[in-house]
Amino acid sequence: MNRVYNFSAGPSMLPLPVLEKAAAELVCYGESGMSVMEMSHRSPDYEVIIADAEKMLRSLMQIPDNYKVLFLQGGASTQFAAVPMNLIGKTGKADYIVSGQFSGKAFKEAQKLGYDVRCVATTKDDNFDHVPTVKREDFRPDASYVHICFNNTIYGTKYGYIPDTGDIPLVADMSSCIISEPVDVSKFGVIYAGAQKNMAPAGLTIVIVREDLLDYAQADMPTMLEWKTMAENDSMYNTPPCYTIYMAKLVYEWILSIGGLDEMKKMNEKKAAYLYDYLDGQDYYVAPVKKDSRSMMNVTFVTGDADLDKKFASEAGKAGLKNLKGHRSVGGMRASIYNAMPYEGVVALVDFMKEFAKNNPKG
Ligand SMILES: *Cc1c(COP(=O)(O)O)cnc(C)c1O
Repeated sequence: MNRVYNFSAGPSMLPLPVLEKAAAELVCYGESGMSVMEMSHRSPDYEVIIADAEKMLRSLMQIPDNYKVLFLQGGASTQFAAVPMNLIGKTGKADYIVSGQFSGKAFKEAQKLGYDVRCVATTKDDNFDHVPTVKREDFRPDASYVHICFNNTIYGTKYGYIPDTGDIPLVADMSSCIISEPVDVSKFGVIYAGAQKNMAPAGLTIVIVREDLLDYAQADMPTMLEWKTMAENDSMYNTPPCYTIYMAKLVYEWILSIGGLDEMKKMNEKKAAYLYDYLDGQDYYVAPVKKDSRSMMNVTFVTGDADLDKKFASEAGKAGLKNLKGHRSVGGMRASIYNAMPYEGVVALVDFMKEFAKNNPKG
């Protein structure tokens, strides 16, 4: 069976060596006589797996010692509620930047919970074709935190800078860009990410939280959402998503084996540059995102004709280039080129784009 190039925004491609290793160990893990899926999360074998996963992620991202790494469930969307519940107790208010759909959902969730939250900047009026530029003065000085979405999966935008929030902890949803390149963790109070974009299959959510931010949880909040409880129990207050954590460990191991995040970044830059350079050098397709906000992970483009867009996605699919249809809310095309997408996949995409443009002249 031939594997296709899967441009899905998530769940998305996993590195082939990772899938092969998982397959080889699927039925019997090491000397354990059982699959990782069948293991007690409190068994010695599993304790090594989760400890290694944390160690490798810390090493990859150079996470400082005063940060906890949590392996949780519920997806990034559950963190939209968990973030305010864990942090707003600091001062009672928080600021949000709305740069797309997910940051909008995060903001709405905090509003729904009745908290004093304010949207301090948004690019909604520009169809989110870039991320807002913000300064320290834009935030309420007594905000408990500022929330951003670092890479906007649906629109294909990313912050080209880390907003300066002064002493206010910066909280970032990094679901679709985590471990795609090095990032200075110390600039953030909290980083969280659903795993299914760039890290593992669905079912795992990573939260990286500075220790001094564990003390502001609402007294009446659900225990399962409380970071402090999870930190004190090494993410094993209840059963963690064991197998997904094991898969994440294999992914971290793979990235370390190819040279870590510096190398990962180089590979990702090369792929993104190939696609954006092609887009910039022709006029059949339009890339709607402003250049300074372009995402290296999610590349959006349109033909300007909804019927042609539809035909593009369908014919690309037949040619083994899958899931190029844009998000249902914005249309057009989106190529998600996460860590696991090989360079050859992007070359194949550009070749197809050239062919398609030649064969489908616009009236
Ligand atoms: C996919 C995504 C989400 C939603 O993640 P779930 O794990 O499905 O809840 C949130 N934020 C960003 C940036 C995403 O890409």
